[in-house]
Amino acid sequence: MTPRFDDSSFTVAIVGCGGFIGSHLLDAVLERTRWRVFGVDLDFYRLQHRLNHERCEFLCADLADPAVVERIAQFPLVVNLAAICTPSRYMGEACEVIRSNYDHPAALAEACAKSGAWLVHFSTSEIYGKTAADSGELVEDSTPAVFGPVTASRWSYATAKLLAERFIAGLPGLRWTVVRPFNFVGPYMDFMPGVDGEGIPRVLANFSTALLRGEPLKLVNGGKAKRCFTSVHDAIDFLFALFDAGLGCALSFGVGDSPDAGCKTAAGAGHSGRDAVGVSKVGAAPNAGVSKVGAAPNAGVFSQAFNVGNAENEVSIAELAQKMRTIFAKVRGVDVSSLPEPQSVSGEEYYGAGYDDSMRRMPSVAKAERLLGFRARIPLDTALEESLSWFVKHYDVAETCHCEEP
Ligand code: UDP
Repeated sequence: MTPRFDDSSFTVAIVGCGGFIGSHLLDAVLERTRWRVFGVDLDFYRLQHRLNHERCEFLCADLADPAVVERIAQFPLVVNLAAICTPSRYMGEACEVIRSNYDHPAALAEACAKSGAWLVHFSTSEIYGKTAADSGELVEDSTPAVFGPVTASRWSYATAKLLAERFIAGLPGLRWTVVRPFNFVGPYMDFMPGVDGEGIPRVLANFSTALLRGEPLKLVNGGKAKRCFTSVHDAIDFLFALFDAGLGCALSFGVGDSPDAGCKTAAGAGHSGRDAVGVSKVGAAPNAGVSKVGAAPNAGVFSQAFNVGNAENEVSIAELAQKMRTIFAKVRGVDVSSLPEPQSVSGEEYYGAGYDDSMRRMPSVAKAERLLGFRARIPLDTALEESLSWFVKHYDVAETCHCEEP
């Protein structure tokens, strides 16, 4: 354990602690550090095993309450994962989606700017917008974003997230880092419709639900869109690389310091900056230090947006469906031919009017590798098998009970 993770007086605030990523982050913080956790959410069902943990304090609240926002910002490191991120809600509940993804994070960012807390804000890869099938790598600081028309309400989520990023980047005095997740998957992702949530979750939970119910997997517009699915465990490793670099960069920073305290400009801060970032200590590639020497003077972990994704895990949704059928057949010990064939459905029919899509989302992973020595490593099949096996185990009983309900 590096000294910064060994500090039992340090507290990280995790907003959205009870969600998919938050619950994994909480477990990892408790396992890999001696830190305390201040966890905020409206729902803690994923955290039952942690509720009485001596290093945790939980608050059932959301960011609509200014007093809650002020309290969170008093901690030196704030990770904001709270968001409405259920695709079917982007159409019918655009205003709520925008409040949750812009108003609330903006208020938290302002409070962090005043207190001096380091805000690690979770954005989305969807801020790259309506990408075409032949789009190349999406690069954090150079790829332009194109969105569908205002009548295509799917973009309510992405545009609110993008505005939040811009607000954060423009706030004087804020020490910030933005994370753009590329289709994270793993245990505890989303929900099973009709059991512990309503609406249409993201594709993995949808496909898992259909497999468990013996229904055909629905391929929106033929399943031609492509995504790079990324294991949540890689995402957590990214966060630890980030924490290590950021806290090492400003070892002594605390609430009340300006963002320039310590070495804000990690890569360009000269010898002491590079040592403090400690890239080699976070599993950096052997040449990571070399690339950093040539990095722009303002490169570092603060005032940066990072893609977090696995570029090697690209798959079309139609291919994903076949992979998941095969994995499900293996997990259940049945012949894949006994499972229903996937069916194509139009986006409008499936999600309602206002649905639109990104056809390809391929992350550039160079920046995270250059500045943090981070590269996702878990292959697609491993990540899918872990997620689907967990889903089957977790929901099988619930599903049986659900089906038997009168
Ligand atoms: N999709 C699908 N069937 C489903 C759910 C989603 O074909 O049951 C498609 C969706 O249209 C999109 C892709 O799968 O092209 C990924 O959708 P998801 O909602 O998981 O998240 P996104 O990556 O679009 O944010």
